[in-house]
Amino acid sequence: MLIIIGAGVAGIGAAFRAKSTGIDYLLLEKSDSVGGLLDNFSIDGFRFDNAVHLSFATEPEVRELFDRVPYFTHQPESWCFDDGLWLRHPIQNNLYGLDVASKVEIIEGFINRPLYGEPENYQQWLHTQYGYAFCKRFPERYTQKYWTVSAEELGVDWVGNRMAQVDLQKVLTGAMTEHTENAYYAKEMRYPEKGGYKAFIQPMIDEITIQTNSPVDRIDTNNRQVVVNGISHSYKQLISTMPLPELIEKMDNVPEDIQELARSLYATQVDLVSIGFNCVIETELWFYIYDDDILAARAYSPSVKSPDNVPEGKSSLQFEIYSSVMSPQIHSPQELQQNCIYAVEKLGIAEKKDILFTHHKKLPFGNVVFDQGMEERRDRVLEFVRSRNIEVAGRFGEWAYLWSNQSLLSGFAAVDAMCARDK
Ligand SMILES: Cc1cc2nc3c(=O)[nH]c(=O)nc-3n(C[C@H](O)[C@H](O)[C@H](O)COP(=O)(O)OP(=O)(O)OC[C@H]3O[C@@H](n4cnc5c(N)ncnc54)[C@H](O)[C@@H]3O)c2cc1C
Repeated sequence: MLIIIGAGVAGIGAAFRAKSTGIDYLLLEKSDSVGGLLDNFSIDGFRFDNAVHLSFATEPEVRELFDRVPYFTHQPESWCFDDGLWLRHPIQNNLYGLDVASKVEIIEGFINRPLYGEPENYQQWLHTQYGYAFCKRFPERYTQKYWTVSAEELGVDWVGNRMAQVDLQKVLTGAMTEHTENAYYAKEMRYPEKGGYKAFIQPMIDEITIQTNSPVDRIDTNNRQVVVNGISHSYKQLISTMPLPELIEKMDNVPEDIQELARSLYATQVDLVSIGFNCVIETELWFYIYDDDILAARAYSPSVKSPDNVPEGKSSLQFEIYSSVMSPQIHSPQELQQNCIYAVEKLGIAEKKDILFTHHKKLPFGNVVFDQGMEERRDRVLEFVRSRNIEVAGRFGEWAYLWSNQSLLSGFAAVDAMCARDK
């Protein structure tokens, strides 16, 4: 029997693969609902995903599964709000809305940017790309809000194509005209017409069996047993998609040095403030917020993603506020909601009277934080886990920056790796 821990998209993918390969599996999910981060919730007829969630999957294997449901295709046109200004994303290519002095300072900084051969940290990477003036005003401030630590504390391996690299021609063009080409790393964003983001994985959910309300409390790797609600289940193979540091806590006989390495891994938490409006508000699909007095780093509109997410004639927004052990959340849920109401007015999106309700929810795991040396520490923990014949999958199982399509593929890959090992 293959036991799979966690019914997010990675665990669902693993079970789906196991089923199609003819392997007996037991998929255990601690909560009473399935989908993990891809799940959603409803308030008075308004549906909210757990944070933004749009698909930019390119892999044929994922597209074949996700595209089974009708979907909308959105252009990845996003915006940034800074001190009363709306600027197109990415700002470095869209300086048009800034005052002349700011543009001159940023362009001068770009021309004179320092060239570190191999940047030692994310701050050096930023400076090499964009110059000091731009970084100080934009990405360094945003890093603190989104990653909850300074750019200097982060490594660089996670960056990949996530940050647009600039050249002088693009900086100058974007400073002189607002008609610039879209530099976002994805060319289109897809979202199910009905049922929220989870609809993309619903056909897989419908084909597999999931045991909910089944938190794995303990794992005995010597006797190959997991304990769920006081009952032991034997396994031949085990795949975990639960967060890596929590997996280590639940395993027997873990050496102290591995426990310590696992404790050093941390992720951001996300306070989601969801807002329902009694009218159709004018807003972008999603946007980034730089202002310090607005606690949220990012917001998006579920009703722009799909009108199916709201009752007719209504609209919605969801704000994402990040914290971590390095920068704990000091505000109460009420204060966070009040701050988001303040944001709605400051951003010029709507007035207080337009708001039907606000709602707060906390995601305990958002983004894995790539503080310096994290990958090395994580890899030692992963090596130990694999030495105990446990495969890992998913964003928090692998402890990596995986999008939903990559998490799904990671679930497939874990089953394939198990099969290859057992041959
Ligand atoms: C803010 C934010 C925005 C995102 N936006 C996008 C986007 O636009 N597009 C995109 O493609 N991806 C996006 N992602 C990434 C995407 O959400 C993840 O890649 C994916 O959902 C991770 O799936 P998973 O199965 O690995 O983990 P999860 O979804 O976290 O699933 C893990 C499951 O394990 C369960 N579990 C945990 N512990 C136990 C236990 N002890 N016993 C049993 N079950 C347990 C949990 O309850 C959960 O259901 C975003 C993520 C975040 C945080």
